[in-house]
Amino acid sequence: MPSSASQTTSISIPQLRADLNGRVIVPGDAGYDEARTIFYGGFDRRPDLVVKVADASDVTRVVSLARETGLDLAVRSGGHSTAGHSVSEGGIVLDLSDMKGLEIDAEARTAWAETGLTAGEYTTAVGAHDLATGFGDTGSVGIGGITLGGGVGFLVRKHGLTIDDLLAAEIVTADGELRRVDAETDSDLFWAIRGGGGNFGVATRFQFRLHDVQSFVGGLLFLPATPDVIHSFIAEAESAPEELSTIANVMTAPPMPFLPEEHHGQLVLMAFMAYAGDTEAGERAVAPFRALATPITDMVKPMPYPEMYFPDQDFHPLATGRTMFVDSVDRGSVDTILEYLQASNAMMRAAQLRVLGGAMARVPADATAFAHRGRRIMVNVAALYERPEEAAGHEAWVTDFAAALSQGDTSGYVNFLGDEGEERIRAAYPGSTWDRLTAVKRRYDPTNLFQLNQNVPPSPKGAGT
Ligand SMILES: Cc1cc2nc3c(=O)[nH]c(=O)nc-3n(C[C@H](O)[C@H](O)[C@H](O)COP(=O)(O)OP(=O)(O)OC[C@H]3O[C@@H](n4cnc5c(N)ncnc54)[C@H](O)[C@@H]3O)c2cc1C
Repeated sequence: MPSSASQTTSISIPQLRADLNGRVIVPGDAGYDEARTIFYGGFDRRPDLVVKVADASDVTRVVSLARETGLDLAVRSGGHSTAGHSVSEGGIVLDLSDMKGLEIDAEARTAWAETGLTAGEYTTAVGAHDLATGFGDTGSVGIGGITLGGGVGFLVRKHGLTIDDLLAAEIVTADGELRRVDAETDSDLFWAIRGGGGNFGVATRFQFRLHDVQSFVGGLLFLPATPDVIHSFIAEAESAPEELSTIANVMTAPPMPFLPEEHHGQLVLMAFMAYAGDTEAGERAVAPFRALATPITDMVKPMPYPEMYFPDQDFHPLATGRTMFVDSVDRGSVDTILEYLQASNAMMRAAQLRVLGGAMARVPADATAFAHRGRRIMVNVAALYERPEEAAGHEAWVTDFAAALSQGDTSGYVNFLGDEGEERIRAAYPGSTWDRLTAVKRRYDPTNLFQLNQNVPPSPKGAGT
């Protein structure tokens, strides 16, 4: 707990409003319910106040307030935390979503971005210069959360993780200090925030490297979800040139207007295809996937990179999922996937297969706090459903499904973890990563002020560095 937890202070809201440049929203205010809503449904929590910070000085003020009062502090960028960490019961929500400043230096191919931007907003803005930084598969995800956890997306094989393009960051640590960190300055902190999540402070701005995406081939390819097609898809994705990153979702088809109606609600293979390079070579790289079966719908074409993101939707599903890494997806695994997906009655259920490698794998495992550099395939299984009373059934299904696909280790990617307990967090940071993270935590957040997250506690006094 924060050291001052015992000092329960009643905060003067008028004073706080006067002190801050941003907005303070409390129960009873118009907009309170909207302000406490996050992406996933099922988190009906009522914070004491939501502060929509306007700048770094507001962030400093709110961090200090949390430290002084001992109130719980939830930090939110895009609100997509799977575990619901971006809203607290009681306490303070520090919401960065009004901080959307972006300075693009197209010549130097860098951009300074405030962390209230979503992946989609950033991508659209830099895309106007035919440039990009890779984030994930969904535009509404905040650049704050995805970057601090690693960032696995459409450019992962060509350019690596989001953190591989992170050049510097500005971060308010638990002592209320705004620090600019990079490979030279506070390099231990810079190491830790590249994968260690929100444990070390509130990131207010990131400086990213930008890549040329003037020439790009991408879009959705829908194929029949037969065992042969799924198995061959993964084999093709593994042997594809690293310009091509794919995200294969074996799932019940949503009622999308571009999908023939007879497939709605049926299992399909919905794949994001993303070729970052010359268009002719891109078409050649995609051809073997198109040849696996007659596509149900083929939307892959030369296009501007930002079009990979769909428009945001006001959608707050209940969900449960598990994430893991595997070395291969053999025919037995494919059969297991299809059996489990067929057996579930969830509104939507999916197994997502992401073939990794390429640029991501060339970064040494100890260079950043994301240590899964050598893992070949990331697998996520999930059920989306409507009624809270269905939860136990889907929870059991997802647990069994993950166990059936597991290849013996419990590690996973921190950004896809739900509220799964300490062991899973520990496993997200294999080898010496955990000890190094707890030592950095001790240095910058010894009282664990930032604990509403996939929490890394400070190392015991005297341990490590
Ligand atoms: C629909 C969907 C699709 C996704 N797709 C991908 C994907 O393709 N690739 C991928 O890598 N991940 C993906 N994710 C996972 C996503 O990266 C994580 O959920 C991430 O934490 C969300 O970031 P956020 O800022 O939107 O969430 P928030 O809920 O706002 O933040 C999550 C946590 O991050 C920390 N945090 C956020 N911003 C800051 C900040 N500025 N300073 C300090 N701490 C902060 C806090 O601890 C917070 O609890 C997806 C998630 C969803 C829901």
